[in-house]
Amino acid sequence: MNIEDFKYDHPDRDVAAFKRAVANKLIYAVGKDPFAASPDDWLHATALAVRDQLVERWMGTTRAQYAQKLKRVYYMSMEFLIGRTFTNALLALELQGTVKQALADFGVDIQALSEREPDAALGNGGLGRLAACFLDSMATLGVPGMGYGIRYEYGMFRQRIVDGQQVEQPDYWLTRGNPWEFQRPEVTFRVRFGGHVQRREGIHAPYGAANWVDTHDVLAMAYDTIIPGYGTQATNTLRLWSAKATEEIDLSAFNRGNYMEAVESKNHSENVSRVLYPDDSTPSGRELRLHQEYFFVSASVQDLLRRYLRNHTTFDDLPDQVSIHLNDTHPVLAVPELMRLLIDEHNLPWDTAWAHTQKVFSYTNHTLMHEALETWPVEMFGRILPRHLQILFDMNSRFLAEVTQAHGHDVELLRRLSLIDESGERRVRMAYVAVLASHSINGVSGLHSELMKQSIFADFNSLFPERFNNKTNGVTPRRWLAQANPPLAALLDARIGRGWRRDLTQLQALRPMAQQPAFVRAFRHAKRENKLRLANWVDEHLRIDIDTDALFDVQVKRMHEYKRQLLNVLHVVTRYHRILADPTAGHVPRVIVFAGKAASAYQMAKLVIRLINDVAKVINEDERVGKLLKVVFLPNYSVSLAEIIMPAADLSEQISTAGTEASGTGNMKFALNGALTIGTLDGANVEMRDNVGAENFFIFGNTTPEVAQIRASGYHPRGIYEADPELQRTLDSIRDGLFSPAEPARYQQIFDALVSWGDHYLLLADYASYIEAQAKVDALYRDADAWTRMAILNVAGMGEFSSDRTIAQYAHEIWKTRPVALGPAAEAATVSSAAPR
Ligand SMILES: *Cc1c(COP(=O)(O)O)cnc(C)c1O
Repeated sequence: MNIEDFKYDHPDRDVAAFKRAVANKLIYAVGKDPFAASPDDWLHATALAVRDQLVERWMGTTRAQYAQKLKRVYYMSMEFLIGRTFTNALLALELQGTVKQALADFGVDIQALSEREPDAALGNGGLGRLAACFLDSMATLGVPGMGYGIRYEYGMFRQRIVDGQQVEQPDYWLTRGNPWEFQRPEVTFRVRFGGHVQRREGIHAPYGAANWVDTHDVLAMAYDTIIPGYGTQATNTLRLWSAKATEEIDLSAFNRGNYMEAVESKNHSENVSRVLYPDDSTPSGRELRLHQEYFFVSASVQDLLRRYLRNHTTFDDLPDQVSIHLNDTHPVLAVPELMRLLIDEHNLPWDTAWAHTQKVFSYTNHTLMHEALETWPVEMFGRILPRHLQILFDMNSRFLAEVTQAHGHDVELLRRLSLIDESGERRVRMAYVAVLASHSINGVSGLHSELMKQSIFADFNSLFPERFNNKTNGVTPRRWLAQANPPLAALLDARIGRGWRRDLTQLQALRPMAQQPAFVRAFRHAKRENKLRLANWVDEHLRIDIDTDALFDVQVKRMHEYKRQLLNVLHVVTRYHRILADPTAGHVPRVIVFAGKAASAYQMAKLVIRLINDVAKVINEDERVGKLLKVVFLPNYSVSLAEIIMPAADLSEQISTAGTEASGTGNMKFALNGALTIGTLDGANVEMRDNVGAENFFIFGNTTPEVAQIRASGYHPRGIYEADPELQRTLDSIRDGLFSPAEPARYQQIFDALVSWGDHYLLLADYASYIEAQAKVDALYRDADAWTRMAILNVAGMGEFSSDRTIAQYAHEIWKTRPVALGPAAEAATVSSAAPR
């Protein structure tokens, strides 16, 4: 091809050009007459026009990455909780005003349009949202790499509340097509399952190559989404895999003339990428989940090796060119998959393959909770992935032999370190595979990283202390401040400039402004606008009238016993009784806001949702209470709903039992938007308090060592219940059906769990301290200026908690990569290498 002949339109950025671009998309891509176009047609056309603006940046970034021979980071995650893309892309491109005007000229309202976009909800909660914030920060910092995951057809279920109870509905988010993705049918890999293994004879035996035969196969097809960086030309790529049936699928059924049977088996193999598992903390025992995990890492490892081999003839440079990061243990099958490909397909000896593997992999742990640590029955694992089981056994026997050599034949130690749990049914310990194969293992807050070393990985920490480190989580200030909170963003821009979007530590400049009455007033005004926006949402969706002068007290996150939404309910009910006992005592009016989904099989979490809704109904309808207390449960918590909730909060509830929440990121979003925190010394709350100052934080409850002590010395919740009349009144009223008159025994189980069955998460042990801290909150809220000054100091102290800081640490300390340079030279390059292939 003569490159001189290859000409294309470089899209202009002015209103007239943009109008023409949208019109062209509507006519030629969507195929709609403007008079017949629906709002979704306009959204689709506009999204395509915006996407065009990203494509040149994307190609330029890819070209520069190749030209500069940069080490690439592959961030593997089962979940990416992205939310909406339209507004985010406009922000990155600084095109909000232009597009708004262009659409207005067509009589289309940009706000209404952007609210029609479905969330890409390919994740459950914090872990998936962290992955999305990381993609944004990697793009913004120019860290070369990409995210790898699964293109689920059904994302996180949609939650409806019917008669106070959660009802799950499927989230088919692709109904109207996804204008942001590029389908890449030419990027398709074969992923194999089942069959059996034949060891090859040869020089490397017994750790040598093998043939994996008689497998049944699924194809993985790539779909790419451009992730724009902010204030840079650099972009990132999210590559998601979709399952397609192989062509040869069940030919015999066809030949027997059984068309239906053949098509059914095609559908069966495409089930692999059908649906996100609606649970972020317990491994579903289902085989499909194991299929999903292997499906996406196999395709990803094949893809990255193919990319590496485009300009290498040996694997010597692999560790200098490739970093694979495991977001929790879900992608850990990438370890035996890389080993398998290097040994079986590329004929490397075990030792070389293993040395490369350990240099390439790094792993983030997200939970210490026993029930959330993934293990797979050896029997099932061997049936689905026989070659990988063999590789894990080989890894294990070599490792245990090394341990024996260094520490003698200590059977207890070997049993504790083994990749295989031999107590009861034999199971593969996925976290141990990750630790053994990675050169870096990190926790997600200072506290969590310490506890990780002391508890689940204590033995590994004494063997490999240099591998363990901390990377405290962060959130992207683009989505969680610039996009979610226009009033505060505008105020910051006016007072400290616009640089905080890329350097969040600039928020420090707000500290002296907490003493300026005009700034305090402006800050409160911004908060009020956000509270009004939420109040309108609540009015429109729930028909509940809430007062924006009231203190908005908010707990939104997945419903989980360890997060202790129930402790919050105990405060609400206590408050209700106090108001009834003396309605004129000068109570501070509060609106208590809850939102969150419960895993569909998690009975206790669902019962708490029901209790919240029952309590809300009784309190909201009680005329004696009036405006002093309102309780609302917002259905279908999601990224786009969080963007409305976070900026409107006065008080952020971060009240997990100390030692259970790995980091939290909701806590950071709230404080960044000017909420004060009431919380335990858990997860990243500890570091947040250090950064904003203990005097600006409402800490309560037992600390992690105190929790351990209470449990060790025998915990007696009934004693606490019997000694505290106010707690008694609260629990008794729940038990006796005050909130469930039609079925008085509905919450007996909740009472029993706390008082009689051990109160596993120590709610009663923290109750009194929590109530006391809530009284301090009330006292401060009565002084509006003092409250606002403290809120400003919280925002000012949040600079540390940008995911840009987190990703810079990962890049320097774990991945050892450097950012892509995008100058005029990169811009002038040819189109030859185009988008990622
Ligand atoms: C930030 C976020 C979370 C995580 O919240 P935590 O309070 O840290 O558990 C979960 N879901 C959504 C939609 C989020 O935006």
